[in-house]
Amino acid sequence: MESQNLTQNSISNAVKSALIFLGTGCSNTVPFGLCLVQPSDPPCHVCYQALSVPPEQNPNYRCNTSLLIDYCESDEKHSYILIDIGKTFREQVLRWFTFHKIPRLDSIILSHEHADAVLGLDDIRAVLPFSPTNNIDPIPIYLSQFTMESVAMRFPYLTKKNLREGQKIRRVAAQLDWNIIEEDCQRPFVASGVKFVPLPVMHGEGYICLGFLFGEKSRVAYISDVSRIPASTEYVISKAGAGQLDLLILDASRKYGLPGAHFTLSQSLEAVKRLYPKQALFTGMGHELDHYKDNEFLAEWSKREGILVQLAHDGLRIPIDM
Ligand SMILES: [Zn+2]
Ligand SMILES: [Zn+2]
Repeated sequence: MESQNLTQNSISNAVKSALIFLGTGCSNTVPFGLCLVQPSDPPCHVCYQALSVPPEQNPNYRCNTSLLIDYCESDEKHSYILIDIGKTFREQVLRWFTFHKIPRLDSIILSHEHADAVLGLDDIRAVLPFSPTNNIDPIPIYLSQFTMESVAMRFPYLTKKNLREGQKIRRVAAQLDWNIIEEDCQRPFVASGVKFVPLPVMHGEGYICLGFLFGEKSRVAYISDVSRIPASTEYVISKAGAGQLDLLILDASRKYGLPGAHFTLSQSLEAVKRLYPKQALFTGMGHELDHYKDNEFLAEWSKREGILVQLAHDGLRIPIDM
């Protein structure tokens, strides 16, 4: 599950930090249930693979978009930073935390408050340490004020610390530490020793989702949900602006249809050309994108344009010098 052709050029054997794609699919996930229970004629090729190919051998099997940063500060010290915790979080823990030997989470960052980014919070217990006396440092969660308000409404039992008299402390609530971040490229924050620059982008006009820029030795931008990148954000992550990215991870949810709340593949490729990173990986794909066929197309595109672009897949691990 290591990346075959990405990042090898600038990475030495000593590098211990890594990016792990816990999920690379849209909110509906792939396979999309409807394609299996009410198959079209001919059936949806991408979804139908799920009936014959097990998930671990099927790069077209995609959970909700989520990235885990395994940040290795020194030989002994790893920090595990999760971006987004969607509807499929439990499955991602069972499959990829075990496969990649991720023992815990040290911090969580939320990009926005849609179901596919936050609903897994209910399953957070799966990775929280247990202490009957609650004498454990809480896990910090970083999110915008808007996301905080939405999450507090949906998960009052995770966010309320004030208890009625006589009420016993709630273990989970006591172990999460909520931190508000600004929707502003000029207001970076630090999670588990890593500096993150918030990258506000439009996710449908009038709705802001945050991407994140991180990494000192390699500059990585992660933008999972976007329909338009405002000029002020584009400047921070473009070669013509603040400097070339080593890796851009970008939303590419559909191939067809009118522009909506997400980039289509052609919009994503236009953005890659404008931003001009050294490499790009697409994420957030729906069932219109076929890992094999579209990666062949992207290999041709990459040759032509001189920027290496591929679709990511669930479980992909990329060593990175941070
Ligand atoms: Zn389908
Ligand atoms: Zn969304």
